[in-house]
Amino acid sequence: MMNMTETNQLHIMFFPLMAKGHMLPIMDMAKLFAARGVKTTIVTTPLNAPVFFSKTTQSSKNRSINIAIKVLNFPAEEAGLPQGFESLDLITSHETEMKFITAMNRLQQPLEQILEESRPNALIADMFFPWTTNLAAKFGIPRLVFYGSGFFTACITESLNKHKPHEHVNSDTEPFIVRVLAHQIKLTRLQLARLRLENEQSNEFTRLLDRLDESFESSYGVIFNSFYKLEPAFADQYKQGRKVWHIGPVSLCNRDDDDKAQRGKEASIDQHDCLKWLDSKKPNSVVYVCFGSLTQFRDSQLIEIAKGLEASGQEFIWVVRRENEEDDNNPNWMPKGFEERTRESEKGLIIRGWAPQLMILEHESVGSFVTHCGWNSLLEGVSAGLPMVTWPIFAEQFFNEKLVTNVLKIGVAVGAEEWVQFGEQRVVVGWEAIEKGVRKVMVVSEEAEEMRNRARGLGEMAKRAVEEGGSSWNDLNSLVEELRLFRGL
Ligand code: UDP
Repeated sequence: MMNMTETNQLHIMFFPLMAKGHMLPIMDMAKLFAARGVKTTIVTTPLNAPVFFSKTTQSSKNRSINIAIKVLNFPAEEAGLPQGFESLDLITSHETEMKFITAMNRLQQPLEQILEESRPNALIADMFFPWTTNLAAKFGIPRLVFYGSGFFTACITESLNKHKPHEHVNSDTEPFIVRVLAHQIKLTRLQLARLRLENEQSNEFTRLLDRLDESFESSYGVIFNSFYKLEPAFADQYKQGRKVWHIGPVSLCNRDDDDKAQRGKEASIDQHDCLKWLDSKKPNSVVYVCFGSLTQFRDSQLIEIAKGLEASGQEFIWVVRRENEEDDNNPNWMPKGFEERTRESEKGLIIRGWAPQLMILEHESVGSFVTHCGWNSLLEGVSAGLPMVTWPIFAEQFFNEKLVTNVLKIGVAVGAEEWVQFGEQRVVVGWEAIEKGVRKVMVVSEEAEEMRNRARGLGEMAKRAVEEGGSSWNDLNSLVEELRLFRGL
């Protein structure tokens, strides 16, 4: 029999997409809700469960924070994928991407069963599961959308959908302007994945995108991992006529070094060795280079990055995810002698695999971030007060880049010009552009100093937003309060 405390406790279920860039912020979010006395359950698949069973959640548990994990099977084989294909980072072709989406759509019945058993009071589900809105309605509970990016991108997407400026250009390379508030954002069709796919034909991905907007409107509300002062005008614009909460940067809930270093996955480098290396460097002297959890470069592109970093003369930490990871004997993926020179001079640290990103970004020796502009990385860079070199690869990263370079003015673009599909990596940026970008943010100049000061200011605002009384703190409280009232608790 349930005791009174349990019956009166608000219970929220979280259902993230099976990708690190979605699971990590949802894990942080669950911790934030749990810290406010909410019972939280995260639903995931067997092979993704360890992400949530990391030291982080264990240590949260020690602080009597209540996060339960429920596992459902991912129907990989039913969708024509190999057994164990449960995570977006395994996708290397258009074909497997489509099958992955098919498998995602088949999670309805197992999730329904979990909802039936657990009877939560609300479901916070990833934006890429539009069908969860109707499923939640079956149980009479609100579904809230977890939006994976920021308000700026949400506004750009709306403007594109409404005005379709990309339909008035003659080629994929001719720039068009997207107007959002006072900003005029220049893009090309090559930076819009959806159009490239539409040029082919409707498929699982385009059909999924079509259903997203619809489900945003029919859901109870939308949660953003952002903070008001980062993009106030865009937040105001997107909020018009909608229920919206901004509760980020959620990654700032990871306060001690273990939490930061072990977030989601065991790092490929000993955290103490990494800290020792960083401690030996001067403040703001190291460039951190990482392209998130999904991007894998071809060897030819890796060589350009190595050459560019070396030519910049800066100290660096470079996180390398190779396409042919197992082919480690191939001597051609770095310029001759690069690794030895780097090691001997202690000029750089190469991390093959998974880096303790939060811990690195927040170290005082790190002075800038070469980023693919994944929303989490971008926000983590902002939270650490760092200027950036932007190198978008796919998804909404080209929009996020414009927020950094055009709106916030805390970074320079490396010059990546086109969206790259899973598995079709090419050399898109040459070493000279990488050298130039890195030098622009790292070498002292008036422009660099201004960018650094603006970035530092935003970092302080990010931290204030999640502290008691800050805008994200308050928004989270009012969301919890509203959901309690909704359930009559
Ligand atoms: N991340 C990390 N170590 C790595 C690579 C990524 O900790 O070596 C984390 C990073 O801190 C971020 C997330 O993984 O929280 C990646 O999300 P993002 O939205 O930046 O990019 P995606 O992986 O979705 O492209």
